[in-house]
Amino acid sequence: ATPMSVMVGVGKAAEFGILIRNGAALQTASKVTAMVLDKTGTITQGAPTVTDVVIADATYAERELLSLVAGIESGSEHPLAQAIVDFSLQKNIAPAAVSEFEAIAGHGVSGVYQEQQVIFGNQALMMQHNIALNDFVAQAQKLAEQGKTPMYLAVDQKLTAVIAVADAIKADSIAAIKRLKASGLRVVMLTGDNRATATAVAKKVGINEVFSDVQPEDKADKVAQLQAQGEIVAMTGDGINDAPALALANVGFAIGTGTDIAIESADITLMRGSLHGLSDAILVSKATLANIK
Ligand code: ADP
Ligand code: MG
Repeated sequence: ATPMSVMVGVGKAAEFGILIRNGAALQTASKVTAMVLDKTGTITQGAPTVTDVVIADATYAERELLSLVAGIESGSEHPLAQAIVDFSLQKNIAPAAVSEFEAIAGHGVSGVYQEQQVIFGNQALMMQHNIALNDFVAQAQKLAEQGKTPMYLAVDQKLTAVIAVADAIKADSIAAIKRLKASGLRVVMLTGDNRATATAVAKKVGINEVFSDVQPEDKADKVAQLQAQGEIVAMTGDGINDAPALALANVGFAIGTGTDIAIESADITLMRGSLHGLSDAILVSKATLANIK
């Protein structure tokens, strides 16, 4: 590629809010065969809100439970934690003083409140702690089938609540994904969220290949798996979790509103946050290569 045509391409892309770190990425973008999309913050807005609070232990009042989850999530930087803390603040509920906070990556959080162990997170976390979920699993499943993310609260080994959050799909994600598929790309969703929730969201946006329940440290492995199948892989993400996958992919796209680590690990940043930027970048890449010939 001539340096001149690459420079023109990089400049053209910038007009669309697409920041390309290096000429090599611009040239690889047109050759991509598979597009991997993180769910939370990439396909969805990344600003989840609480939708349901189900009390599982009637000895607790809803405000008590919310105080407890807000207290435990105060220590977490996860978007799910933000949703919980905001919800309690809106209701003027003060967070409980939870000590010994611990974040369990890809699972949830734990802490101690008045000498009781408190854990909050997904079903896998509850399984690890041998918490009986009984028929609340079915309730959580129903919420997940609506695309919501259910989380369980346990106090001293006893289930006390199920709290669900929902994260709205970005207004133009459906159209942008349609465009990616129309250009012949294999589009795959990659998320740490549970199977039912991930599948519900994927269905809404027209994606039929889903990697769910993927631990943060395993996201890059999924990219490698696709590469081993012969795919030239683009990965798009916004989170700390996505950074290794973004670095390993043939082309990494970061969402401009995402974490610094994601942006640093990516080759291309979509300043506008819209997934249309992916097809736009590929078009600029194709035009650049055409100019070279
Ligand atoms: P994602 O790829 O959706 O960002 P993560 O790998 O960060 O997912 O987390 C996977 C799952 O673990 C979440 O969907 C949630 O159920 C649970 N989880 C992670 N962090 C927290 C937290 N701070 N509070 C509650 N649940 C959490
Ligand atoms: Mg994300």
